[in-house]
Amino acid sequence: MTDLTIKASINAELPAPFHGRHLIAGEWVGSAETFERQSPSHGTVVSVSAKGDKAVTEQAISAARKAFDAGNWSRASGKERATVLLKVADLIEANIDRIALQETLESGKPISQSRGEVGGAADLWRYAASLARTSHGDSHNTLGADMLGVVVKDPIGVVSIITPWNFPFWILSQKLPFALAAGCTVVVKPSEMTPSSTVMMGELLVEAGLPAGVCNIVLGHGDPVGSLMSSHRDVDMVTFTGSTAVGKIITQSASGTLKKVALELGGKNPQVICADADLESAADAVTFGVHFNVGQCCNSSSRIIVHEDIADQFVARVVALSRKVKFGDPMDPDTQVGAIVTAEHNAKIAGYVQAAIADGAKLELGGAALPVTGLSEQFYQPTVISNVSPDMAIAREEVFGPVLVVLTYQTLDEAIALVNDSDYGLSAGIWSENVHTCLEFARRAEVGTVWTNTWMDGFPELAFGGVKQSGQGREIGRFGYEEFLEVKSLVMRIGRSRTPWVQEVA
Ligand code: NAD
Repeated sequence: MTDLTIKASINAELPAPFHGRHLIAGEWVGSAETFERQSPSHGTVVSVSAKGDKAVTEQAISAARKAFDAGNWSRASGKERATVLLKVADLIEANIDRIALQETLESGKPISQSRGEVGGAADLWRYAASLARTSHGDSHNTLGADMLGVVVKDPIGVVSIITPWNFPFWILSQKLPFALAAGCTVVVKPSEMTPSSTVMMGELLVEAGLPAGVCNIVLGHGDPVGSLMSSHRDVDMVTFTGSTAVGKIITQSASGTLKKVALELGGKNPQVICADADLESAADAVTFGVHFNVGQCCNSSSRIIVHEDIADQFVARVVALSRKVKFGDPMDPDTQVGAIVTAEHNAKIAGYVQAAIADGAKLELGGAALPVTGLSEQFYQPTVISNVSPDMAIAREEVFGPVLVVLTYQTLDEAIALVNDSDYGLSAGIWSENVHTCLEFARRAEVGTVWTNTWMDGFPELAFGGVKQSGQGREIGRFGYEEFLEVKSLVMRIGRSRTPWVQEVA
């Protein structure tokens, strides 16, 4: 216990709770009922939000539909849309401290990480603005002397955006600017655990001059708000990030109207460590990959597959590094890992670890709650578990905590088989100095993203998403943007060359 690095409370003075309302047709609207969020680290109320019901969700969808059909955004030029998106990017940067503080208070993540995520989100808005101006279709000038074919791209329509609690502002910015760049109008529902940074985004959109009704925000729970947003006939597409279980429910809700569904779901992401790898860098990346955001990350590298010859020394290195990671008060700018999102989730993580140990796994580090002086009980120790078999729940399911499981292999074929033996397919990584090994792995891994000799680097230009039960569709990059567009073909005859179908009777 004492050999872990723990940042005790710095007794920071917390601001008064943030009060959030819905944004509908350009107006801030309250509800008779409200719901509260307590800081996972401090146990005190940090936000009070209007609690949306079916009626307010109907109003938001109706406002988005009317705004889309009116055309002042959906038919605006790319230049006009880009101008607003660029203003939003500037406003995000001007408000980093305020948004980041609220994000930390509601999610429990360290303040330095929140600042990085909010500041980084501005770049997603700038990249989306560039797509608004450079989007184009296709033309066919080879269809014959009297024919011209043009394929144009239209905004898909009204989009429901439903987001989770683990990266509230970042994930919103992976979706919203791209939908807006395409000309869509939207209804957004943030997680009930982290609603406030989405409200703050709404404030920035209003300030940037986004026309009323183009972005509407409803605060509240999955049922009734999210389920109505997924089933309503006036919604053309749902883009959802969250658990695989809720992703399946949303697919069912959307099937009644056959609306398009884009899903970013869970993962059980492996890193393969070859014997010829730069083991120092690999151990650091594995430590980062599992403890970042307390493991509450779809991209958490929660399992490693290590070559047998180096497994013991590699695990010892990861354990030594994990002891040095600074766990504790998220308000301390020096802290690297903060609190678990809820007490229930803390108990779920502990349950996975206890079950694995009961099944014969070996605890190399951690495996218990982490007391942090002056803060709540919602912290969990960095945990490393070896002697794990691939069929154990801890090796197959998303634990969503700072818990690493170690599997071993002898041949590359075995390692790839273990990578692909999963219901999930979000991301995977390999560490080797041999480029042929890396490329073979990259081609055979059944995932949406492969990292070679790195982990979790991402860019607005590169599409992100999963295969199998990690999701469908792609986010960010040109491919993510295209998800918000429909394709329409124009077939044009030039001149009077058309042969009549009905022949004149002589
Ligand atoms: P969750 O599925 O519990 O909730 C996500 C959102 O869905 C929330 O806004 C919630 O209110 C809403 N919701 C709940 N029930 C609903 C329903 N019936 N209809 C419509 N909406 C409903 O997920 P979470 O616990 O907030 O987030 C953690 C999960 O998100 C993890 O599984 C994680 O892997 C996943 N995630 C995936 C990615 C990715 O890009 N692949 C990124 C971040 C998080």
